[in-house]
Amino acid sequence: MIVNMSTIATKKEIDHVIERIKECGYQAHVIEGTERTVIGAVGNGGRRSEIEALRAAPGVQEVIQITHPFKLVSLQLRQRRTVVDVRGVKIGGGDLVVIAGPCSVESGEQLRETALAVKAAGAQMLRGGAYKPRTSPYDFQGLGVEALRLLREAGDETGLPIVTEVMSEADVEIVAEYADMLQVGARNMQNFSLLRKLAKFARPILLKRGPSATIKEWLLAAEYLLAGGNANVVLCERGIKTFETATRNTLDLSAIALAKELSHLPVLADPSHGTGLRSLVPPMSKAAAAAGADGLMIEVHPCPERALSDGPQSLDLPGFAALMRELGQQPLKEVRAA
Ligand code: PEP
Ligand code: MN
Repeated sequence: MIVNMSTIATKKEIDHVIERIKECGYQAHVIEGTERTVIGAVGNGGRRSEIEALRAAPGVQEVIQITHPFKLVSLQLRQRRTVVDVRGVKIGGGDLVVIAGPCSVESGEQLRETALAVKAAGAQMLRGGAYKPRTSPYDFQGLGVEALRLLREAGDETGLPIVTEVMSEADVEIVAEYADMLQVGARNMQNFSLLRKLAKFARPILLKRGPSATIKEWLLAAEYLLAGGNANVVLCERGIKTFETATRNTLDLSAIALAKELSHLPVLADPSHGTGLRSLVPPMSKAAAAAGADGLMIEVHPCPERALSDGPQSLDLPGFAALMRELGQQPLKEVRAA
């Protein structure tokens, strides 16, 4: 339930409502807007009818029901969009934010060359996998801590904030030591103990949609992070499993638009995993931007044919620069070398 206070409600009236919400067995989430205060009564098993009765309390404008099972994530509760700040890069702030880099960090040279090129082409953040969730145990699993160190180096040299996946609860501390943003991969979207742990970390989270997850399940996974205390969450649509086999996944463009209707959280699109095919990355990037995406995550490799993972969907350096021009992103005139 949401209690909308009137624009002239006093502090005493607001405090009274908060007190009553707690007495009725709910948590009170207070959102102070520029015009009014909105208080969410969140939780299960509280005395709902007594919250409804708060309509009659002084200073209350209206009491409305949150119709979705995700409460803190819902746009209904917040009524204002969240902007997630990753070391100065504002995701959800109105500009299309492009995160680019290799699927996997393979070596210092590969990462450095990619980082300098994507920065020069106008990317605002650097990605790269250190711990790789591979379908086969025989495929390259990532360089682990060595990759984290290389990412930090490339991030520091270029000034690009870095995002990388944390695959297991055991790795959260070490990944958080190096990365500016922690990625929850598609396969881990419903790893609830990982989500609970990440909720306690003061790092922005990039939450990918599971390949077989409904939009409701995706937003409920985000709810775990917000309910646990981390409000800096960015959603990322990365394609879902459908009957289609011509593409690796089906990039669900409607999910981008709908997630933005339902939630105040920023939404990114990953057309690389979303299609699995390099040639489809530019058109799907533009389509995602048209659908309202706040940004894109794009895999880039200096030599895709030699990539240790996801070469077929990776853009090469000139291909990425061309896409950035088509997207109207400003390439930097010069790149600062260390
Ligand atoms: C990735 O971005 O490196 C990745 C593995 O993506 P996903 O979890 O969406 O498959
Ligand atoms: Mn990949």
